[in-house]
Amino acid sequence: MPSPDGKFVAAAVAVDDHAAVEIWNIRDQRLEFTLGAESGTGDIIWSSNSTYVGQRSGGRVRLWDLGTGAVKGDLRLTNMVRYCSGDDDHHPDTIWIAGGDCRVAWACDDCGKLFICDVENGTIGWSDFNDLDVSSDTKVIAFAPDGSYFVSNRAAGGMGRWDVTDVLTRGHPETATSIPPSPLWSTDGPMLTSIAVSFDQKWIVGFDVTKEILILNAQTGSYLYRILPDGIVESDSIKLHIIPSPDILRISMMEDDRKCTIYSWRVLDAEITPAMPKSVTLDI
Ligand SMILES: [Zn+2]
Repeated sequence: MPSPDGKFVAAAVAVDDHAAVEIWNIRDQRLEFTLGAESGTGDIIWSSNSTYVGQRSGGRVRLWDLGTGAVKGDLRLTNMVRYCSGDDDHHPDTIWIAGGDCRVAWACDDCGKLFICDVENGTIGWSDFNDLDVSSDTKVIAFAPDGSYFVSNRAAGGMGRWDVTDVLTRGHPETATSIPPSPLWSTDGPMLTSIAVSFDQKWIVGFDVTKEILILNAQTGSYLYRILPDGIVESDSIKLHIIPSPDILRISMMEDDRKCTIYSWRVLDAEITPAMPKSVTLDI
């Protein structure tokens, strides 16, 4: 699984009785960290700022801080759903790790709620997907690298930007009396299949059902560019990553987990022009 900044690849490995999560530096093809794990399998989850990496395995999520290589948190899935309403058999569905102050978010399909936990102090906040106007079927959500906000598709299409603090401060679902959070901005448009925040947090990039790439100003939510790729995107199973640098915006799209297309644009203030090469497609 590549990191959002495009520098690392993480993989859970098992050799004999030794289990680990390995972090490889892509540019140097060098093993950067070997993190002690209890299982050599499980899903890898990167934080939005590429500082933390998590492994979901065996009923828990273990987090490591790549600055120190130390375990940052160990969350049991049974504890993560103790704020759920309803039956005891609820379980976290999708899990995200926001960067900055290390917050873990998860969705519970069974009760239609999004939870956010501040790992440092254990505070947990929540919101109904309905209140966030987010389609709980698709859960197209991305956190800003500093963990201060997240963006999502809206139930009827378009995007919304939400303050993480507004969700975190709502407290326990049974006692919360505060009103549901409101979006900082929202837009109308087609339903999204992917969304991402650029690493410098200037851009929001979405990919919608009409196969159009949408680039928005992250502060205001205003549309900057709409780009229709030249007949390359055929699959419905697209995963989108953004690799920004000071003057180049790159968007890599993984198709069916084997074909990677990288688009790049030169960004100069309010102008954006295709950089060379416009797109490169790698068959993996
Ligand atoms: Zn639940």
